[in-house]
Amino acid sequence: MDKSCTALNVDGSSCLQRVEKTTGPLALCEAHRASVWNYYREVFRDRLIAKMEEKGCIKKHTFGITYFIQLPNGNIKIGYVHTPENLASRMQELFNEHGGRVKLLATAYGGESMEALMHFKFKHLKVRGSWGEQFSPTNELVEYTQELGHVPGGIQAMTILRKRIEGFHAKS
Ligand SMILES: [Zn+2]
Repeated sequence: MDKSCTALNVDGSSCLQRVEKTTGPLALCEAHRASVWNYYREVFRDRLIAKMEEKGCIKKHTFGITYFIQLPNGNIKIGYVHTPENLASRMQELFNEHGGRVKLLATAYGGESMEALMHFKFKHLKVRGSWGEQFSPTNELVEYTQELGHVPGGIQAMTILRKRIEGFHAKS
């Protein structure tokens, strides 16, 4: 496909980057596809969950563990998984994807609804073009993770990962 991105850059200029894949009726480059996805998730999911939390409507969070993982580029990824095993696998995936050390900074109780709250809380730190998962490692965010610490599932995930790595070295 030979199309150029129809979105506008932050400075208001036309993007015109090559388009690999269309998003419904929109011709957008990868970075603009990510920013459209972020925009709608922030408006429709994160803001709604934050309002519900504010009004005290959330009795219980959705099932899972929300994690804060520091990537080799320094940015902090905030996401969620269902089990400690999934978290160990996520760390391995991120290691492979980003080609370097990843660090589990903190974990919290709650799945997608907690992830949405955290994404909303730190939305001003979101890294552009990162599909909404990466946040700038400012003091505010780093200190928050230090205060948060780990739920038992987070500690378990690190133990599982350590055992997997030891098993891998024992086999090779
Ligand atoms: Zn673009």
